Formats: sequence, structure tokens, C-alpha cells
Amino acid sequence: MIIGVPKEIKNNENRVALTPAGVMSFVNAGHKVLIQAGAGVGSGFSDEAYVQAGATIIEEAAEIWAKAEMVMKVKEPLPSEYEYFREGLVLFTYLHLAAEPSLAKALLEKGVTAVAYETVEVNGTLPLLTPMSEVAGRMAVQIGAQFLEKPKGGKGILLGSVPGVKRGKVTIIGGGVVGTNAAKIAVGLGADVTIIDLNAERLRQLDDIFGTRINTLMSNAYNIAEAVQESDLVIGAVLIPGAKAPKLVTEEMIRSMEPGSVVVDVAVDQGGIFETVDRITTHDDPVFIKHDVVHYAVANMPGAVPRTSTIALTNVTVPYALQIANKGIHQAVVDNPALKKGVNVAGGAITYEAVARDLGYPY
Ligand code: NAD
Repeated sequence: MIIGVPKEIKNNENRVALTPAGVMSFVNAGHKVLIQAGAGVGSGFSDEAYVQAGATIIEEAAEIWAKAEMVMKVKEPLPSEYEYFREGLVLFTYLHLAAEPSLAKALLEKGVTAVAYETVEVNGTLPLLTPMSEVAGRMAVQIGAQFLEKPKGGKGILLGSVPGVKRGKVTIIGGGVVGTNAAKIAVGLGADVTIIDLNAERLRQLDDIFGTRINTLMSNAYNIAEAVQESDLVIGAVLIPGAKAPKLVTEEMIRSMEPGSVVVDVAVDQGGIFETVDRITTHDDPVFIKHDVVHYAVANMPGAVPRTSTIALTNVTVPYALQIANKGIHQAVVDNPALKKGVNVAGGAITYEAVARDLGYPY
């Protein structure tokens, strides 16, 4: 099969859908890989590195889209790319189609088979989303620690502290993938860490993982209010699948925090859990201050570390892409139900129930 990787064109998107290591996996399996010139530069991969791994470099995106049987991307195609869609093309990327009706229409009309990273599902988990939550969770503490520094607007404390001085307090609300990864870094820094979750079984698992290095608390308004008031850094890491995040931290709770405390709302991509977060921020202008508390609310945190994010993402996407290349899309989805769940558009129909329902298509 011919696999094509165009350069990402979304604003500030520096990730790329294949690394040189990924290229080599395809080439060793007898496939051909076309990479657009400069596609990997934002993630630290030169055109030469791709050529050494066996890829062919192509200057123009149009040629990649025209020649490839499967196009791999990171973000959903933008309107300027819809003209490249054609019957028989397989597209493998993050799609988030429920939020992109015009993209769904273009894919349907042109007969593209579109497989979405975010709906590939194994035993109720979403393995192609997990690495980005791992990155965001680990970053959240690193970022919180930075903004606790005085020159950055914080109260001027070192989370891990030094002998003779109290350790910084970190509260993580939501103990899933983001929360657990945040806890690992916070514990590693030597902070005093509390994780709050609604799921008692999850709290037990966290207790097994971290033992006495963390405190666990059941999620309720009383516990959240008390923990927030005492914390230097609060991280929002809640997810209710398919729903907006609940506003668990009220404005009054934020007012109760010491001036110069920091909140990092990782869940802001689902609306966020802090009542005081009324907008998404960007990497260029990541924080705002409300009630003397520093608020960070960037919705694409992994975008700041594209090299790590690209490698983490492609580690999990390449094995699925190889199945498609080796067997063809039809046999690959017959053999692998996880991949079948990823198919959002095929044969001119929406094939993923939630997307069809949200966009008003028959299913
Ligand atoms: P997850 O499903 O692994 O974990 C969510 C956790 O929240 C679960 O343990 C669940 O029990 C808990 N929870 C649900 N309701 C709760 C409540 N009322 N109180 C306390 N805990 C509650 O999800 P995840 O992968 O960790 O993702 C968390 C959020 O981070 C999602 O919104 C995700 O989209 C977002 N995210 C954001 C970025 C970013 O760049 N900002 C990057 C990756 C993920």
C-alpha cells in the first residue's frame, strides 16, 4: 500500500503522523511511504531522517493526497484539504466529527473511508487518546510548579520544598489517566498530594498504586472545598464521557485560596471543572488571574511538547495503520473489532452511532 503523510496545516500544530521509526515499520513490511517536505520539522525530524528510513519526500500536499491509498494525519482535515478527498481513499487521523459537520459531509460525498483515532476502542478504553492524556497530566504539574514561581505571578513556593520548610500541597480532582500521571510527577517532586475521585473502586486502585505517598478523598462538595482552600496547586482532571465537565470548583472556593495559588484546568476541552474558567487560553497567552489565583486553561497542552507527543501518539497508531496497510481496510476491520470501532465514515454513510446521532444522519 502507498501511505501518505501531509504536513499538518492547523495553526500551531507541530505534530506529524509518522516518525522515521514508523516509516521504517511500513517499509520493512513492503509498503511505500510518501512524506511531505518539512512535515516532521516541528517534531524534530528532518527530511533526511525520513529518507534514511526509506520514505520518499514529496514537495506538494496535493501530490501526496492524489497518490496515497491511505493518508495519515494528526488533526482533522481543514476545508482547504477537502478538495483532495476521493473515492477509495482511507483517512486515519483524529477526526472529532461530531463537532465538524462540514467535514463529515465532505467525507460522505466523496466516498472516503475515515477511521478516527479517538473512537478506536479496546475493552471500553480509548488507546489512541490515552497517550495525550498522559502527556497533559504530566505537564500539568510541571506547569503548575512554574506558575507558582513569583516572577510568573505565583505565591513563590517550591512544590517539593527543602528540609525545614513545609511541602507544597497539590490537589488533583479526577483520578483517571490525566490525574494518575499528574500524581506521579507531583509525588516525584516531593509535593503533598491529594487525589479526589467519585469512583470508590478507582480510589482503591490509586491507593494500591501510590500507597501512603498520596491521600485519596471521595469527591463531594465538602471535601473539594476543604482541599481547594488548603492547596497551592489544584488540577482539574475529571471526565464524564460524552458530557460537559461538571463545575466542581465554585467561584467561592477559588476566593478561599491564598493569593498566588495556581489552578490548571486540564478538563477545559470538555468545558472545565472550575467555575472561574470562562474561556480557553493558548500557549501564547496561557494564564489569567482571577481572585488573585493564576488560572491555566490551555485545551491542547500536548501541542507544547510536539516531539514527545508525536512519538507517544505514533507508538500507538502505527500498529493499527500497519494492519490496514497489510490487510486492506475491509479485512483489517473484520479481524480487529477495536479498529472497526474507529471507522466513522464508510461507503457514503456515517458508521459510528454517536456521530450519526449528533449530526442527524441515519445509522
Ligand atoms: P479518564 O476517563 O481517564 O479519567 C476521568 C476521571 O474522572 C475518572 O477517574 C472518573 O471517575 C473521574 N470523575 C468523574 N466524575 C467525577 C467527579 N464528579 N469528581 C471527581 N472525579 C470524577 O479521563 P482522562 O483521560 O484522565 O481525561 C480527563 C480530561 O482531560 C478530559 O476532559 C480530557 O479530554 C482532558 N484532556 C485535556 C487535554 C488538554 O490538553 N487540556 C489533554 C488530554 C486530555
